[in-house]
Amino acid sequence: MAVVETVRGPVDLGNLGQTLMHEHVFVLSTEHVQNYGSDWWDEETMVARAIDKLNAVYAKGIRTIVDPTVWGIGRDIPRMQRIAAQTQLNIIVATGLYVYEEMPHQYSYRGPGLLIDIPEPMVTDFSRDITQGIADTGVKAAFLKCALETPEPTSGVERIARAIARTHVETGAPITVHTSGPHQTGRIAVRIFREEGVDLSKVMIGHAGDSNDLDYLTELADAGVLLGMDRFGLDLFNPGAERIKTIVALASRGYAGSMVLAHDANCFIDWFGAAHDQIRPVAAPNWHYEHITDDVLPALLASGVTQDQIDTMMVENPVRYFTPAKDGAS
Ligand SMILES: [Zn+2]
Repeated sequence: MAVVETVRGPVDLGNLGQTLMHEHVFVLSTEHVQNYGSDWWDEETMVARAIDKLNAVYAKGIRTIVDPTVWGIGRDIPRMQRIAAQTQLNIIVATGLYVYEEMPHQYSYRGPGLLIDIPEPMVTDFSRDITQGIADTGVKAAFLKCALETPEPTSGVERIARAIARTHVETGAPITVHTSGPHQTGRIAVRIFREEGVDLSKVMIGHAGDSNDLDYLTELADAGVLLGMDRFGLDLFNPGAERIKTIVALASRGYAGSMVLAHDANCFIDWFGAAHDQIRPVAAPNWHYEHITDDVLPALLASGVTQDQIDTMMVENPVRYFTPAKDGAS
């Protein structure tokens, strides 16, 4: 049986179980935390809090979360190892770069045709995370992540997307791409990845569920990608009732095999600083790991989605996404 790498090591794909395909444990700027976080960030408290929340969602039947936290939103694998050691939940981690517009200086001068003329260093770095492990942790990334947020990608963002695609071609690792529903940037992802020879069945269009445009969503699904219906609880981007209606419509048209579910939630995000614990229950009360199990799945069933279709979205599609392509290297 094929395996997928998790924070605790390889897990048989048959043991992934119910999977939330896009959740963060933390979303942080490491420098923000280190320099300004003394009032609101306590490492031990935050780690304990994460363990509690992950164990709570495990108790609800979820067996795996897929965490696309990469450079740009605070990837910290040693912290994840501490957390993963104290929960039975499988946590799958990623490599890549989370950038909306500006290429990090660390890649601006190194690369083909640049001041330091070397093969694309992002492909080198991302591939090492997948094949050898991240830094000296021994933990391997199991998928790739990039972002296409703006209507037209900057040259830097396009370079990142192409480096992600080439790493996929080299390693076989699947891709999750952050996209904008309003700007329908999933189309840009499909175009770039197609040009680079990516197996589109190994691509998840993150935040596709922010859109209720069935023409856009079926166009993407027909291209072969997975739709990330992955922001349940973030009603400010698309109200939950609308998200559900869109899934019901797509499922009734035979697209259950093209959708995966998640919240894009986290245990703590540093964008609100010290106000985090006060603002969050008010601004987004359902934005937590248990909303899908508690509320969304019952609502889908009540709206005519079958248990088989839910199993397809929650179990089978994640397994298919992480199943190595026959000719893939991973
Ligand atoms: Zn996310």
